Amino acid sequence: MYALVINCGSSSLKFALISSKERQTIISGGAEQLDSPEASLTIKHDGKKTDALKDSSHLGAFKEIFAYLDQKGFAKNIIAVGHRVVHGGEYFQESVEITPEVIEIIKKCAPLAPIHNPANLIGILAAQEVLPALPHVAVFDTAFHQTMPEEAYLYGLPLEIYEKYNIRRYGFHGSSHRYITERTARILDIPLDKLNIISCHLGNGASVAAVKHGKSVDTSMGLTPLEGLMMGTRSGSLDPGLIPYLVECLDYDIYEIDKLLNFKSGLLGISGVSNDCRLLESKAKEGHVRSRLALDMFGYRVSKTIASYLPALQRLDAIVFTGGIGENSVYIRELIMSQLAFLGYTFSNPSNSFCTGGKEGVIATSSGFGKALVVCTDEEGMIVQDTLEILAKKEKSELRQRYAISLPPYY
Ligand code: ADP
Repeated sequence: MYALVINCGSSSLKFALISSKERQTIISGGAEQLDSPEASLTIKHDGKKTDALKDSSHLGAFKEIFAYLDQKGFAKNIIAVGHRVVHGGEYFQESVEITPEVIEIIKKCAPLAPIHNPANLIGILAAQEVLPALPHVAVFDTAFHQTMPEEAYLYGLPLEIYEKYNIRRYGFHGSSHRYITERTARILDIPLDKLNIISCHLGNGASVAAVKHGKSVDTSMGLTPLEGLMMGTRSGSLDPGLIPYLVECLDYDIYEIDKLLNFKSGLLGISGVSNDCRLLESKAKEGHVRSRLALDMFGYRVSKTIASYLPALQRLDAIVFTGGIGENSVYIRELIMSQLAFLGYTFSNPSNSFCTGGKEGVIATSSGFGKALVVCTDEEGMIVQDTLEILAKKEKSELRQRYAISLPPYY
């Protein structure tokens, strides 16, 4: 039996077919440049194959994926579909089965994630059209952070603005931070409800979450995924007063400013070369000053965010690094941990260098602030876990109902 995971963006659709028992990825891949003549579909199964898509729509891509799964004999054994949905607003604290009501709420949250939620919905509707008999589950990026207290999620704006427009910190990368929390609890053998960690998801998009007693109590991304750390192409937090000034200096409209902050800033904007950490590291080694500066700014912002969460946690069991940079960049981790040396961490470079390319481990230890670990995230695994749990609950309640109905009256 298999679960199908769908992650649909505005011009892309990623998928993974995962076995329900072993939780292994059997087939994965994705469509890119959808709705354009260059649309293509890549399937990774016994090698990697990319073909042009005849029908470049999301539905066309999904039909093509399904046809492949059918042709290889997997389609009949798919038992549920899990969808990544970026924004669940304040409506969803956990994953849910997708019903017409859930679709309406995802639509209602679309103004909070105007690029992502409509794309996620297109994916849901395409998948439902092709697989109407299966349960479809929505797993929200925001859900894990719904446990944040008011003092962490409110902005210092007039309260009426939050009340009327739901403008507040929501946080993202929830499936990753939740996975990291659960896995770290197992690795350190600490009960989840006693675990205090700072989870650093450092990829092209990057966020840090403070997790107290297994629950998110603060996180660096906000109403949108632009806030917080400096990222691959995103500026991260800056002085809001800078925006009207930029409008004046550059003679940009607000959409151009939005583009500047989301797509032309961060590692790319500072280095002037790339948003790719790997490339910047090699450029920095060759003496490229702006690449070194970009990396140093990235690392400094992570370490200062980590330190800013200590008041929320009071006691720390671990700092955990994950995501493409967190799992692989020996340089960035060393930079961050050296800036946190005042917390008493004994940093071990052989073990830091060892943790790359999927190898997990402890890279530093402090007598007062726990350990620093590298843990590989698994957002798709989290989506499968939730999807299968919801499926099992649904089957149980259906069985219970059927059993109750068939019970003789004297029972
Ligand atoms: P996304 O947010 O797109 O999912 P990823 O989590 O895949 O991003 O992370 C991508 C980032 O990880 C890129 O900046 C990439 O350069 C970086 N990365 C991947 N491998 C390494 C490596 N070995 N050393 C340094 N950075 C790496």
